[in-house]
Amino acid sequence: MEPGAERLYEYTAAEIVGRTLAALVPPDHPDELPGILDRVRRGEHIEHFETVRVRKDGGRVDVSLTISPIRNSEDRVVGASKIARDITARKEEDRRKTEFLALLAHELRNPLAPLRNALQVMRLAGDDRASAERTQAMMERQLQHLIRLVDDLLDVSRISQGKLQLRRERLSLSAVVGGALDVCRQVVEQHGHQLTVALPDEPVEVDADRTRLAQVVCNLLTNAAKYSEPGNRIWLTARREEDEAVVVVRDEGIGIPPPMLTRVFEMFTQVDRSLEKSHGGLGVGLGIVKRLVEMHGGAVEARSEGEGRGSEFVVRLPVAGPAVGTHQPPDQRAGEATPPGPRRILVVDDNEDSADSLGQLLELLGHEVRTAYDGEAGVTEAGAFRPHVVLMDIGMPRLNGYDAARRIRGQPWGKQVVLVALTGWGQEGDRRRSREVGFDAHLVKPVEPAALDKLLAESQATTG
Ligand code: ADP
Repeated sequence: MEPGAERLYEYTAAEIVGRTLAALVPPDHPDELPGILDRVRRGEHIEHFETVRVRKDGGRVDVSLTISPIRNSEDRVVGASKIARDITARKEEDRRKTEFLALLAHELRNPLAPLRNALQVMRLAGDDRASAERTQAMMERQLQHLIRLVDDLLDVSRISQGKLQLRRERLSLSAVVGGALDVCRQVVEQHGHQLTVALPDEPVEVDADRTRLAQVVCNLLTNAAKYSEPGNRIWLTARREEDEAVVVVRDEGIGIPPPMLTRVFEMFTQVDRSLEKSHGGLGVGLGIVKRLVEMHGGAVEARSEGEGRGSEFVVRLPVAGPAVGTHQPPDQRAGEATPPGPRRILVVDDNEDSADSLGQLLELLGHEVRTAYDGEAGVTEAGAFRPHVVLMDIGMPRLNGYDAARRIRGQPWGKQVVLVALTGWGQEGDRRRSREVGFDAHLVKPVEPAALDKLLAESQATTG
């Protein structure tokens, strides 16, 4: 037996000599060895045969076998050479991936079921206003939940590819906390928890990405709500400790067993996966939190005295150095956007439902709308319709959105058109590319109505 096999099966060469191969084959695979021997005798070469083998200590190891017949000078099979590879790590990864996909399907189905029910209710309820409003509010909640799941998935993929980027600006810690509360106070209160917020007395500033830090705090708050009994108390505290801005989220919920306190920050890790204890979630939230906090030069830590004793998450960020000049972040321009007047708008998207529903929405808002379902048709329609604004998908058959945008910009009438990319790709590289081909703006699907309104109002200001 060669040294690799010694390591794999934990027998020494001396120990295995004289034993038959059968010692390595688990007893519940009785037909395997005869089958393999038969095939080798027939002269067959067996590649990547995946099975299990028994080690000396009785433990099992996942292996991939490659077996070739050895022939004598008369071309008769007289033996076999065998290579066994330990594939335990790959098997484990496969298992985790499969488990994750099952969890993902389950979690996506959760909001889908009520959405489907809601459609049915709308069909049956006729013009019962109260019922329609209740149903709409529910659809909105479920849709938000679905969007959050998809956003988390995209974040995980960005993180694993190293493509996540921060847009940092100087912010007060109180503004960060306020921003987070805007986003998720509702989720916390929906569970009937009592939230107590404490802000620092003195101004504390950090150099941070507003949206991403709000996401961090929201994630911790949502977890605190999820893993507590309804009516429990939750504390959100922001303060300065020497050179650090500290945000603490504390709850009185189910707590975390000590061995899991660091592991909960690993991607795809949940303390209890059993379905009856499912709290909804993909087990990636804290992994994203940790990565985002580290990208800000900070650290996050979990504390708990154990099961049933509540949990505390502490985020530490470096306090920003002294301010240079008075820089105003660009998105704090004065005044509310006034609703835009009627515009001619062309929607180009090969997902016809997507194009039509957006078109319908824009018409209800008083605009004149046309739709096209591929890039070519989009360019032609733009020539005929002379829209003020074009909302354009990027990935399309015939002519993609980038090329269509370039062509429109190349026309004498195309210089004035406000071109808006509307896509599922929201990474910095995608945004840069759409700027380069001449888009004025880049919105990520599903578009928030407020973002669209703001854009249309701005288009009116520039094109009159
Ligand atoms: P999930 O989608 O499962 O909530 P997270 O990454 O946000 O994923 O959290 C990972 C795991 O950490 C959770 O499944 C849960 O077991 C545990 N956990 C997170 N926050 C808390 C908390 N406040 N109290 C108790 N357990 C928590």
